[in-house]
Amino acid sequence: MTVYLVGAGPGDPGLLTRRGASLLGRADVVLHDRLVSPAVLDLVSPSAQLIDVGKDPDAPAGSGAIRQVEIGRLLVEHGRTSAIVVRLKGGDPFVFGRGGEEVEALSEAGIPFEVVPGVTSAFAAPAAAGIPVTQRGVASSVTVVTGRVGEPGGEGVPDWEALARAGGTLVILMGMTTRAAIADALIRGGRAPETPAAVIERATTGAQRVARTTLAGLAAVDLGSPAVIVVGPVVALGASPSADAAPRPDVLAGRSVVVTRSGPRAGGLVGALERLGATVIELPLARQVDAADGGAALRAAAATVRDNAWVVLTSRNAVDRFMAELPDARALAGVLVAAVGPSTADALRMAGVEPDLVPGEHSARGLVEHFPVAGTGEPRRVVFPCADLAPDTITDGLAQKGWDVARVEAYRTVALSAPESAVLARVVRADALVLTATSSVLAFAALVTPDGTAVSPPPHVVCIGPTTAAAARAAGLPGVHEAWGASAEGIVAELVDHFSPDSGGAEAS
Ligand code: SAH
Repeated sequence: MTVYLVGAGPGDPGLLTRRGASLLGRADVVLHDRLVSPAVLDLVSPSAQLIDVGKDPDAPAGSGAIRQVEIGRLLVEHGRTSAIVVRLKGGDPFVFGRGGEEVEALSEAGIPFEVVPGVTSAFAAPAAAGIPVTQRGVASSVTVVTGRVGEPGGEGVPDWEALARAGGTLVILMGMTTRAAIADALIRGGRAPETPAAVIERATTGAQRVARTTLAGLAAVDLGSPAVIVVGPVVALGASPSADAAPRPDVLAGRSVVVTRSGPRAGGLVGALERLGATVIELPLARQVDAADGGAALRAAAATVRDNAWVVLTSRNAVDRFMAELPDARALAGVLVAAVGPSTADALRMAGVEPDLVPGEHSARGLVEHFPVAGTGEPRRVVFPCADLAPDTITDGLAQKGWDVARVEAYRTVALSAPESAVLARVVRADALVLTATSSVLAFAALVTPDGTAVSPPPHVVCIGPTTAAAARAAGLPGVHEAWGASAEGIVAELVDHFSPDSGGAEAS
C-alpha cells in the first residue's frame, strides 16, 4: 500500500541505490519508463508484474500530457491494491522526470509514497567521461537545464542568453535535437564559439560514446539520444582517452541469434548482442509460475530452514521465491548457503545474504564437486528449492556425498502457446540459438510448424552450462557449444569467438 518512486540511475545497475535494488526485488508491481536500462529491470523479482509506461517518442504532439495523467491514475490504482508498488524512473525521479506530478497525484488520492533518489545522468554522464562539473578556479557553478528552445519566456523554455551570461558549467538534458539552436543562442548570449563542449551518449552503459568538441562544433556531432551535453571550460580538463575509447566493432553484424528468453528480463543478453550488431529474434517458449501446490512446500521449507546445514540454490528465480518466504535474512543464521553461479549469487546478495559457496565451475556438476562431504554427527540435511524440471544432478550428487537432500518445488516452468509461423520462419533461417535452461531445450525440441513438422534448429547452439548442453545433445540438437561462463557475458563471448573471422576458437580453452 505504498508507492515508491525509485531512481534507476543512468544505466549501469551498479549505480542503483541499495534501497532501490531491495525494493525491486520485493515489488508486486513495477511501472517503468522506456529509459530504464534492461540491466536494472533484470533485478525485478520474477513474480512481479512489470508495466512499461514509457512514452512513445512517435506519439502525436500533446499526447504526452494525457499519458502523464494516465500514469498518475495507474499509480493510484495499483497503490490501492498492491503492497509494494515501484515507479521506476531513469536517473533521479525528480530531475526532469515529472516525478513531482506523480507525487501530486498520489497525495491527492491519499496514497502513501516514498521517494528513493537516484544518480542523475546530469552528473553521472560527465563523470563517466572524466569531466569534473565544477573545479576550483575553472567553474564555480553548474546549471542543469532542459534542451528546449523557442520564444524566451515560453513555457518550459530556458533563457539561453541569460544562461550564457551566467557562466560556469552548463549540463543540458534532452538537447540532442535542438543542439544547433542551443549553441547559436549561447554564442549570441556571449559565450565564445571555441568554448569546450562534450556529448556523452548512453553514459555508464556498454554502449557509451563520448564526443568532445566546441560550441561552434556541437551541431556537427554525430551521436544520438539519450545523451547529455556539457558546455564549459571544465570539458577541456577531462580529456581522458580511456573514457573516450572507440565503440567495439560490430563483430556480430549480419548474424541473427535466437534467444528463448524474452521481455525485459532477457534484456541484458539481448542488448549485449544487439550492441555487437546481431539481429536478435526473441522466441518466448516458457514462463515461470507458482509451484503446483501453490507454494505450500516452499513455505514449509522456509519455516524450518534452520533444521538444515545447507540451502542450495541454482537460479535467481529460486532465490527470489525462497527469500520471499523468509521474514528476513536473519532467518538463515547458522545455515550455510550455496549458489551455483554468479547470477544466483548476486540475487542472494541483493536479498542481504553472502553465499558461503560459489563453485569455480558454474554448473550443477561443479557445485556437487565443490560441495563438502557430510560429517558424522552434525545435521546432514540440505534443502534445495528449485524448478519442477531441475535435473537430479544436485540431489543425486549430494546424496552420494552423504547429505540428506530435500528437493522442494519452488516454481514451475510452463510452455507458452506456439509462436506465429512468421517468427518460426526467421528462427529456421537464424545463425545461432541460445538456450539457458533444460526447460528451454525441451520446449524448443517440442516446437512444430503449423503443418506439424519439427522446427529445424539453427546450425550453432550455445548453452549456458554443461547440464543444458547435455540436455540439448540428448534432444538431438546439432552444433551444441557451452558458453564461456554461466552469464550473458559468457554466452556473448562464445558467439563472438565462433563468428569472428580470424578466431579459429584458439582462445576457447
Ligand atoms: N530523470 C533523468 C532525466 C530524464 S530526462 C535523470 O535524472 O537522469 C531524459 C534525458 O536524460 C535524456 O534526454 C538525456 O539527456 C538524459 N539521459 C538519461 N540517461 C542517460 C544516459 N544514460 N546517458 C546520457 N544521457 C542520459
